[in-house]
Amino acid sequence: MSVLVVGSVALDTVSTPFGQVEEALGGSACYFATSASFFTSVSLVAVTGGDFPQEHLDFLASRGIDLDGLQTASGKTFRWAGKYEYDLNEAHTLDTQLNVFEAFDPELPDHYRDAEFVFLANIHPELQLKVLQQVRQPKLVALDTMNFWIEGSRDSLLKTLKHVDLLMINEAEARQLAEEANLVQAARKIQAMGPKSLVVKRGEYGVLMFHDGHVFSAPAYPLEEVFDPTGAGDTFGGGFMGYLASTGDASVENMRRAVVVGSAMASFTVEKFSLDRLRSLEFGTIQERFQMFKALTDFGDLV
Ligand code: AMP
Repeated sequence: MSVLVVGSVALDTVSTPFGQVEEALGGSACYFATSASFFTSVSLVAVTGGDFPQEHLDFLASRGIDLDGLQTASGKTFRWAGKYEYDLNEAHTLDTQLNVFEAFDPELPDHYRDAEFVFLANIHPELQLKVLQQVRQPKLVALDTMNFWIEGSRDSLLKTLKHVDLLMINEAEARQLAEEANLVQAARKIQAMGPKSLVVKRGEYGVLMFHDGHVFSAPAYPLEEVFDPTGAGDTFGGGFMGYLASTGDASVENMRRAVVVGSAMASFTVEKFSLDRLRSLEFGTIQERFQMFKALTDFGDLV
């Protein structure tokens, strides 16, 4: 089964204590789609300006990503600038320029409308809803968002959340959305907003998944070098949804495996700037890292 994603296609300017890049390929939809493309076919909905480099389109197409839903508008491509201090868990946004996303009116190509797995990646919640309303009968709808929208477009976000099965969100943003400091209580409050499942991304501390009465915890892979955490969350989302779609199985047991697949994918993205690590990644290396996660958390039985 295939995955449909709507989100940002961006030119990112990022600085970390280890270096910086200017106007590199980024955006929630690009990280998501590239990561998911290792597992299944992906259709992308977004908009770029006339200034978006052809080489980036060629790269996305080389991953087999369907770009029929990627519009080109007159104007400038979305731009994001961010900075990380030594605590790489926290991104400091320096600048967000929505540009062509301000007037974007997504119209899904007909062959996109039968998508079964839908990922509403980080973008304005009204655009997320507009896309979702055009999908005929989705099997699983997941949504990612961030403080920018929780603060600036809370009402639209709450409206969109009513139609979502699973929310994927950072720890601080889960607390902010729920207006609740305790994460377990925050999860309960968020589940009452619509999504019956919640995946809380906790940076280097891993991921917590709440599903019905069930809680699952996965670590992040303890890497010796983390270079740039930008896109880790979206790459996680791509691995998670891509794996679920490839198996067509949204049971809780399979969602636990999907959390580990997502965590493995994210562990690659942070090793280099932009999408550079994913460009050279091979499927066998993903399988090896999945096994390393298994070994990392296996503590046998009580004797
Ligand atoms: P993350 O996985 O959370 O690190 O996502 C990083 C990506 O999100 C960057 O490549 C940015 O281009 C993109 N981004 C940052 N702010 C926004 C926003 N307000 N809306 C959509 N995308 C954004």
